[in-house]
Amino acid sequence: MSEPTGEVKQASKEVKESENVAEKYSALTVSKNTEMNMEELSSAFSAVPTHKPVKKQIQFVEDKQEFSRFPTKAGRRSLSRSISQSSTDSYSSAASYTDSSDDETSPRDKTQVNSKGSSDFCVKNIKQAEFGRREIEIAEQDMSALLALRKRAQSEKPLAGAKIVGCTHITAQTAVLIETLVALGAQCRWTACNIYSTQNEVAAALSEIGVAVFAWKGESEDDFWWCIDRCVNNEGWQPNMILDDGGDLTHWMYKKYPNVFKKIRGIVEESVTGVHRLYQLSKAGKLCVPAMNVNDSVTKQKFDNLYCCRESILDGLKRTTDVMFGGKQVVVCGYGEVGKGCCAALKALGAIVYITEIDPICALQACMDGFRVVKLNEVIRQVDIIITCTGNKNVVTRDQLDRMKNGSIVCNMGHSNTEIDVASLRTPELTWERVRSQVDHVIWPDGKRVILLAEGRLLNLSCSTVPTFVLSITATTQALAMIELYNAPEGRYKQDVYLLPKKMDEYVASLHLATFDAHLTELTDEQAKYLGLNKNGPFKPNYYRY
Ligand code: NAD
Repeated sequence: MSEPTGEVKQASKEVKESENVAEKYSALTVSKNTEMNMEELSSAFSAVPTHKPVKKQIQFVEDKQEFSRFPTKAGRRSLSRSISQSSTDSYSSAASYTDSSDDETSPRDKTQVNSKGSSDFCVKNIKQAEFGRREIEIAEQDMSALLALRKRAQSEKPLAGAKIVGCTHITAQTAVLIETLVALGAQCRWTACNIYSTQNEVAAALSEIGVAVFAWKGESEDDFWWCIDRCVNNEGWQPNMILDDGGDLTHWMYKKYPNVFKKIRGIVEESVTGVHRLYQLSKAGKLCVPAMNVNDSVTKQKFDNLYCCRESILDGLKRTTDVMFGGKQVVVCGYGEVGKGCCAALKALGAIVYITEIDPICALQACMDGFRVVKLNEVIRQVDIIITCTGNKNVVTRDQLDRMKNGSIVCNMGHSNTEIDVASLRTPELTWERVRSQVDHVIWPDGKRVILLAEGRLLNLSCSTVPTFVLSITATTQALAMIELYNAPEGRYKQDVYLLPKKMDEYVASLHLATFDAHLTELTDEQAKYLGLNKNGPFKPNYYRY
């Protein structure tokens, strides 16, 4: 191979390090035989430390009010300032299917007991457990890789003694992850990372089998922190591992229970937001335990961002607007992973798709994929739908919204609700009319209506479901990261943020190939030598972009 230059040289230095690690643990065969014992699995890790710069300042949830221990109902609703963005972004794949709207009593005011006599949980209604169990069984059908990992590792119990405190969406899919951790020997206490996302029946099913769950759909902010606190602050039980999604749990523990970190062996963090928070802590020299950045593993980014959005963009638009896509003119802002997924789905249904981009490489990719690359102003008067996927702010301005045609649909697939300047629409001359859940008509004085979805928050997480199979990939990565951090010998990880090594990414992918009865080609000795690869992987250098 020719000598790499410039930036690539820098990257290949990192690769060499991780290849050495992979070489050392070549018992992990990805191409031919994905069977391995937990010792091999664990030693296959040795994750890569990252000193990735913080891309943008995430507003830390400072000065959080302490929850009220004996709040009035009004009091519970009144705290609205300090809750984090991720905990309010609604996530309706998590929609509770059981209707418990007739029961207005706060779960905090109820005494409930599961069939084993335990009351160490707080959910909407423990009687929904059986229904939740069926939901979990449905999710399991599309999470066979995670179940395969569970089956393989179950006898070795690699998480025996692990006391995991978790804060994630509490859905059927996360229940499969939680039950996997329990099957591998862990004790779990769990709370929700989002006040709207809990599937009440799933929370009940988990509580029924002895997982201490503190969560229900429609928590107030005060409830949210109370639930987190109940998870952590339990007499006679101290967590030694954290599994977080968004960083609220980690943050709460840092503020309220810093001493607990003496026992914590590691943090596994899934989300962009939570990972940014960890990098902030690390940069400030305050990170006192090792942490795994699951968000930036290839199997997360290339699957969650691309395929998840490809599968869910149409679903979100259909459920909210019943729009027909054939022949519709759609402009997608941003042709990154999310944009590519959205465009592929829209194109397949016959929409005429325009792209806006700031980056010439992504713009060229869009051209080569057959899309017209335009400035938003060139098409703003003619398009039927605008979708933002940039991760940037003010991509669609008030001026542009003023020029859109009657009946056009505006929505966002990016993380932040500031991609569309929704705040600029909250002016006296415009009328807002709620037509459905997550659907607003914004009406101009001349009668023009623009249909705004989810008030500019993530469309798919707010208005549709997210495919279970994609969540299986992320959950498998989380489970492996948890096993590794818990079992790592002292000194393998320092107080830093680590990325999973490529080999582990490849292992997670290989576990999921079985679903498709996909058969990998094996390198011959001659080919492996020619490419300078280990026959068992990793097959790509860290700088490879897929
Ligand atoms: P990415 O960086 O791959 O793509 C973003 C693209 O937007 C880039 O190509 C960038 O050049 C372009 N861009 C930036 N500013 C722009 C502007 N003003 N006009 C036009 N283009 C612009 O990121 P990604 O992985 O595609 O993620 C995009 C956003 O979606 C992020 O906020 C991410 O957190 C979020 N996300 C959403 C989901 C979901 O399920 N909805 C899943 C994963 C990620």
